[in-house]
Amino acid sequence: MAELSLRKVKKVYDNTVVAVQAFDLEIADKEFIVLVGPSGCGKSTTLRMVAGLEDITDGEIYIGGRKVNSVPPKDRDIAMVFQNYALYPHMTVYDNIAYGLKLRKFPKRVIDQKVREAAEILDITELLKRKPKALSGGQRQRVAIGRAIVREPQVFLMDEPLSNLDAKLRNQMRSEILKLRQKVNTTFIYVTHDQTEAMTLGDRIVIMKEGFVQQVGTPQEVFHHPANLFVAGFIGSPQMNTFDARLTRTGDRYSVEVGGAAVALSPEKCRRLAAAGAESQEVVLGIRPEHITLTGGPGSVPAEVDVSEMMGSAVHIHVRACGREAVIVVPVSEEAAERGEDTLAAGTAVGFTFRGSAVHVFDRETGINLEFPPAAPAEEPPEEPQAEPELPPPPEAPAAAAEEVPLEAPFPVRDLGDPFAED
Ligand code: ADP
Repeated sequence: MAELSLRKVKKVYDNTVVAVQAFDLEIADKEFIVLVGPSGCGKSTTLRMVAGLEDITDGEIYIGGRKVNSVPPKDRDIAMVFQNYALYPHMTVYDNIAYGLKLRKFPKRVIDQKVREAAEILDITELLKRKPKALSGGQRQRVAIGRAIVREPQVFLMDEPLSNLDAKLRNQMRSEILKLRQKVNTTFIYVTHDQTEAMTLGDRIVIMKEGFVQQVGTPQEVFHHPANLFVAGFIGSPQMNTFDARLTRTGDRYSVEVGGAAVALSPEKCRRLAAAGAESQEVVLGIRPEHITLTGGPGSVPAEVDVSEMMGSAVHIHVRACGREAVIVVPVSEEAAERGEDTLAAGTAVGFTFRGSAVHVFDRETGINLEFPPAAPAEEPPEEPQAEPELPPPPEAPAAAAEEVPLEAPFPVRDLGDPFAED
């Protein structure tokens, strides 16, 4: 367990590709941080810089108060679980988990105790004598996690550990990781492109886009107060609906007008908008599908049904309203389901409304949530990316090589070298 500090961390590959920009984050001891964003946004690069598998172009990384910029991976006291975990196919589960400890020349008795404890935590004790090919995908992933647990690392890094599993297993392993987190008392950084994983696992979530951090916050904060349209669209499923609307300020009260309907914002929303100095203007209005109510009454926004998707406990009704497509989530009551009245036919004219507490208003130009005070002007970036010839050569990244090796491949053990192990 340790606190981490990333200060203005930047990564430029080959002097040209800027993968991560001025990444600033203080991570508390035992915190579970999730880095999330679309493919290519710089999540893995950030994690690999913490691990020491990529050198840092600019900035500083501290683990437990110690600057680690040029500390090799094996001396950082971290463990990493990759998406394509590679287990040694000819070794039993026991030996796979014990391998790193054997390399570090731990006494046999200690190794045995640690392996059995890890197996207990992961509920794989009865599998210890099996070879990897006799395991399911989820069981293999647990073994890979077991290998990392026995190190008792200060920081546990996980790079898309569940993305190779099918949807059902992924859900199951997600709750396993939640349980693991309670049993293994350490600091976690977890990378995923899946917003559900991020929301369910993270104490705080870091949402990234094109190398830039978009927002850092608890799952509640990023869901209820997304910093901008990107975060609003990325977090939450189905995605937040957006409409062109007008925000009107009267003193410290606000209302929005959309599709002929006017809705007064809640006192809490008004307080935030007033504190941020938002004035009357044309905005992008965001409303989550589950915060919209179908109603045909006066003052509702007219819409036309495109298609109804029955999801079981709810129906997702896709509509066209104000020239945009929108989704409305309608819970299905047992009675409506029995009467067969749980979906709406295409072309049906409907209306909807929403509460003033569920409204998000974004700047039309910048996409920034108007509840947030305008950002201070950014510092001028240096003109050219700085090469750092004096940095030590990047550590070999055998893990990357290992990622491409299929489990069953007859490869020599040395190919799978562990970047965190002592030689
Ligand atoms: P993510 O994990 O979010 O999918 P990555 O951190 O892997 O994103 O990549 C961020 C950016 O850096 C991407 O544009 C990717 O193409 C680029 N990149 C990653 N690794 C390398 C590399 N070894 N050499 C050059 N560019 C790279």
